[in-house]
Amino acid sequence: MERQIQGIPASPGIVVGHVYLLRWEVPDVRHRIIPDEGIPAEIARFHDTLARARERLRQLRLRVEATAGAEEAAIFDVQLSILDDRELTKGVEELIKQNLGAEKAFDVVMLEWRTRFARHSAPMLRERVGDLTDVHIRVLSLLLDLPDHDPVSLPPGANAILVTHDLTPSLTVQLDRDSIAAIATDAGTRTAHVAILARSLGLPAVVGLRTATTELHGGERVVLDGGTGMLAISPTDAEIAAYHERQREEQVAEAALAELASLEAITLDGVRVILRANVDIPEDAEAGARSGAQGVGLMRTEFLVVGRPNMPDEDEQYRAYRRVLEAFDGHPVVIRTFDIGGDKLPMGGFPTEPNPFLGWRAIRMCLDQPEMFRIQLRALLRAAMHGNLRIMLPLVVTLDEVLATRRLLEEAAAELKARGVAYRTDIPLGVMIETPAAAVAGDTLTRDVDFFSIGTNDLVQYTLAVDRGNANLAPRYTPLHPAVLRLIRRTVEVAELGDIEVSVCGEMASQPLMAFALLGLGVRQMSVAPRSVPLVKQIIRSVTEAHAKLAASAALRARTAEEARHELGRRLADVIGDSRYLYDGLPGSG
Ligand code: PEP
Ligand code: MG
Repeated sequence: MERQIQGIPASPGIVVGHVYLLRWEVPDVRHRIIPDEGIPAEIARFHDTLARARERLRQLRLRVEATAGAEEAAIFDVQLSILDDRELTKGVEELIKQNLGAEKAFDVVMLEWRTRFARHSAPMLRERVGDLTDVHIRVLSLLLDLPDHDPVSLPPGANAILVTHDLTPSLTVQLDRDSIAAIATDAGTRTAHVAILARSLGLPAVVGLRTATTELHGGERVVLDGGTGMLAISPTDAEIAAYHERQREEQVAEAALAELASLEAITLDGVRVILRANVDIPEDAEAGARSGAQGVGLMRTEFLVVGRPNMPDEDEQYRAYRRVLEAFDGHPVVIRTFDIGGDKLPMGGFPTEPNPFLGWRAIRMCLDQPEMFRIQLRALLRAAMHGNLRIMLPLVVTLDEVLATRRLLEEAAAELKARGVAYRTDIPLGVMIETPAAAVAGDTLTRDVDFFSIGTNDLVQYTLAVDRGNANLAPRYTPLHPAVLRLIRRTVEVAELGDIEVSVCGEMASQPLMAFALLGLGVRQMSVAPRSVPLVKQIIRSVTEAHAKLAASAALRARTAEEARHELGRRLADVIGDSRYLYDGLPGSG
């Protein structure tokens, strides 16, 4: 008989497979004293282990280079150089000579190094802590003869379900699609970046399971349902047959929805909605275009830099942006400037911070590093020659950020002109409305920007003061809270008054009930994951604008998110029947 753990649905799809448990944490190490005569052998054992770790990393590097590319593989160079560091190895040898076992000696030195690097004044060095931790885990696991946890050691076709506490960038780049069929994590929520990335990769995923790594031992047969957030452990053959049946039903439903690709997103009373796709990695572009999306409403460029020790150069960025623009053949493509730093995909070269959610990230960091920012702006101006580009700025809270970016855009254009490179400058510039400051004072921005895009993932987080990635807070992360609905309504009104376009590109738009609410709040442009385009289109095609407006008014008058959900659910069910999928992905829907 099966046992189930309920998590948060992150990326749809049903997979039956065996658990691959990845414990990527520093193991506990015992204090072990060795006799004087054992010292030379212990030092030799230590060097032997370093050689094995080096060999492992080289294999890993080759493998990642072949599957993900040279840039992604470069992340392992830093770790290789740590293994070769003379000061580090000498430090460990010294402690072994004082009769400490190699594993404790290495543990002590690594802890000291990690503390020292974490406190370093140079951001580049502070950021090396992640690499040090990876090396710490890798070498200790070998010294202690622990089971090999490298996801790379899985054979192709293993159809494994990767269960781990959380996915770090360096683990993410190692994910081998030939062997891993789904992801399950203890941590994370629907809007956490691991979930967004899994959706981009088309890998079914459940996050926020809390206890999966403690309840599972590895090797168990499980069923993961990314649509409902359920992980069933050791199901019977009959139960598996039932899941396969559900899998087939889902495929049929998806195929039916795919037929909507060529139809318009238009309500029964003739109101047109522009539906665009969120593209997180350039490789997504073609699938996004096939989904029937009318362009890209959000390309998250930070996935170009995930887990890498340095930023992509101008040419590499230009190629990535051009690919997306060309895939969408003249439709608008909104490319967002780097939203990195702080809680967002911390990467090489940038500091870890005491309060990353309110930290030095996104547009703040880009403006403070104009050299780096201008590289991206130049790549964008060049790519604009190949399609209908719009540029969007993340986490804007004040007009100054827009004006400073406009000045940098002029400088970037002058640099390209001096180089004699082709570029365009007549590019619409928009901002994300994802802070209460921008939503409340949107009118201060309308004169100087060409469009708004409401980033509900962060807007909900900052309005309700609820960490979007914290699984323990998931029930409190309620996009239908009256404060959020009022901020969205206000943003739409301000955009109308200022005569600029407004869209929603947060996850809210891909949830059926909330897409209905957004329609009623006056939103006429939405951008969702490619897979969600047909579903949202179906909702829009099934309702009238008048009905959605009535429902949204009722939701705006509600006193709680739960009441708003009830009002919306009742009215949507009136027209398309009461189906469970209408609530999928909403907090409290399980
Ligand atoms: C958002 O905040 O809603 C958004 C779309 O951006 P991200 O999820 O990348 O923060
Ligand atoms: Mg955001």
